[in-house]
Amino acid sequence: MNPIAETEWSNWSGFVTAQPRTLAKPQNQDELSALIKTAPGPIRLAGSGHSFTPLVKSEGTILSLDNFQGLKSHDPQKLQATVGAGTQIGAMTRLLHDIGQALPNMGDIDKQAFGGALGTSTHGSGITLGAYPTQLEAMEITDGRGAVREFNRAANPDAISAMGASLGAFGAVTQVTIRNIASYRLHRRRWCEPVADVLDRFQSVMTAQRSVEFFYIPFSGHAMMLTSDITDAPATSRPPNSDDEAVNTLRTLRNFLKRLPWLRGRLIGWAIARLPPEDYVEAWLNVYATERNVKFNEMEYHLPLEEGAKALREIIALLETRFPEVYFPIEVRVVAPDEIWLSPFYKRPSCSIAIHHGAPEDPLPFFNAAEPIFRRYGGRPHWGKMHNLTAKELSALYPRWKEAMEVRRDMDPDNRFVSPYLARLLGVDL
Ligand SMILES: Cc1cc2nc3c(=O)[nH]c(=O)nc-3n(C[C@H](O)[C@H](O)[C@H](O)COP(=O)(O)OP(=O)(O)OC[C@H]3O[C@@H](n4cnc5c(N)ncnc54)[C@H](O)[C@@H]3O)c2cc1C
Repeated sequence: MNPIAETEWSNWSGFVTAQPRTLAKPQNQDELSALIKTAPGPIRLAGSGHSFTPLVKSEGTILSLDNFQGLKSHDPQKLQATVGAGTQIGAMTRLLHDIGQALPNMGDIDKQAFGGALGTSTHGSGITLGAYPTQLEAMEITDGRGAVREFNRAANPDAISAMGASLGAFGAVTQVTIRNIASYRLHRRRWCEPVADVLDRFQSVMTAQRSVEFFYIPFSGHAMMLTSDITDAPATSRPPNSDDEAVNTLRTLRNFLKRLPWLRGRLIGWAIARLPPEDYVEAWLNVYATERNVKFNEMEYHLPLEEGAKALREIIALLETRFPEVYFPIEVRVVAPDEIWLSPFYKRPSCSIAIHHGAPEDPLPFFNAAEPIFRRYGGRPHWGKMHNLTAKELSALYPRWKEAMEVRRDMDPDNRFVSPYLARLLGVDL
């Protein structure tokens, strides 16, 4: 077994920390099974620590599946690939590209372990494009007693639906087979529009193209629109990423003009209206993800698509009247409905609204004020992003909650994977 050198674990933003008694990277299946049987509990599985909620936190054992990486096999006819669940998404995109396969969609970054991205139903934008668990054909998972169990969509559709978004609560996912599409190029465009115009035509704008999303820049009145469509056009080159620089500028303007929101808004609006539009063609794996080096914390709720514009208007008004310290943009995306029982997109075309707060500043006053708005519109929280819901509220939002919890009990009868946070989230009596 590879012990991890540090004794403290921390998530990407630094908001969640833990001092587990054991931090380990099992080298192989035997070591993983042995640790699950004998290591001090509770046992939590770690991907790359990019969740903002304490899903990975444990004072017992944190296990990283970093040694369960790489392409195991692939089927060129069915466009399916079997990969280790510890594979980082960025590495996986290159492995898939080399065999002519591609992920149909991706989120904003590619730093997550694929098992971690599945664990919280990580998503990109596109009304016909599902979150990562919708690609699952088969999974290999080590249960709470250290036994290896295999499930596939044809023979065990309910198991895939129950554990597709597993929160690390059912076992350690070691290997998955995913359904991909043939490699493709994307035509990416970015431009600026008054947010009022976008909100007036919200549903038609957000569903008009394969992938549409936007960032609302606080106090500016403007939305930065982004679209990506599949194209046969030859590749051009992607302009350098300036997201970090833009966020730093927004922070500087906040620092100097917090008490003069009208001037702050004028300056931002003036600057972004003059940004050159972005327009390029690139291979899929070079388009979706960007580097995010300026740390933040985040809350994201997934709402019924038809409620998106109303909720966003309220969130913008809340931010601009009560929280002038916020400078990070609000991100708005759409996601296809799916059949995964614990997916926030379960049977519902969704609009996702994500609010961010620069770290290490305290995000809670803004997030706690915004959450009742998201809840009033029927929102389901992103499992990996900050929220205050517990089993009582969550069970009412998920029609197949009870069945999912029965599968969890079967996979982990001794509650080895249940930390105090998971107990509150899932309603488990420890
Ligand atoms: C900068 C940034 C950008 C982001 N962008 C997006 C985005 O565009 N879209 C989006 O939806 N989310 C986004 N997120 C959230 C992020 O994708 C999710 O929180 C994701 O789950 C993190 O993956 P991870 O590998 O870091 O997993 P972790 O945070 O380490 O773990 C997540 C969950 O998966 C479980 N888990 C991990 N590995 C396994 C395994 N092998 N078996 C079983 N369970 C496992 C963990 O126990 C935990 O419950 C972003 C986060 C950050 C910090």
